[in-house]
Amino acid sequence: MSSQKPHVLVVEDEPAQREVLVYNLTAEGFIVDKAASGDEALALVEEATPDLILLDWMLPGVSGIEICRQLKTRPATRQVPIIMMSARTEEVDRVRGLETGADDYVVKPYSVAELIARIRTQLRRTRPAAVGERLEHGDITLDAATHKVYRAGNELKLGPTEFRLLATFMERPGRVFSRDQLLDRVWGRDIYVDTRTVDVHVGRLRKALLRDGGEDPLRTVRGAGYALR
Ligand code: CA
Repeated sequence: MSSQKPHVLVVEDEPAQREVLVYNLTAEGFIVDKAASGDEALALVEEATPDLILLDWMLPGVSGIEICRQLKTRPATRQVPIIMMSARTEEVDRVRGLETGADDYVVKPYSVAELIARIRTQLRRTRPAAVGERLEHGDITLDAATHKVYRAGNELKLGPTEFRLLATFMERPGRVFSRDQLLDRVWGRDIYVDTRTVDVHVGRLRKALLRDGGEDPLRTVRGAGYALR
């Protein structure tokens, strides 16, 4: 029940470097997947879209730069931040990395602390609730650091599932999430829950948000899912 945590995919062919990253990122509270080659990375991304990809430049087979180019042209992954990692230090390579669509670039040997700071910078843009930011939408405020929710200044009591649901909606106001997408993001992709459970929890969230009156901020889109107005 921790899928609110950001999901990072580490693509690195050097086993020692890969394991150091997996260890440190897991310790930082990320959900980490790993791949040792570009082909493996593409297959994993197909299965579940990560929130961010750490991508080694020099990989056996398909190069990191080619993987980056492919991911940045696919609609499903275009928005996923990619941080390239490379031993190359020449300025021309740095420019080439960014031209391929990489969002950031670190040169090996990098400091793990700095890399994590850069990951958080990217996620603050794309997954703000997951990195402890304060989100506001209309008269609703969600403080991800303290796990508190306010409507018109009054604190609301939400269960953990309702909190994660609201955070998901508030990260992408207006976007319609299907029940399956909500199951993936709020319950986690490895947990079997009936889609009707989503309706039950959205109902509870709506009730909590309407406790003191006001307009219903949640929109039910028939046949499609739910969205924040
Ligand atoms: Ca490598």
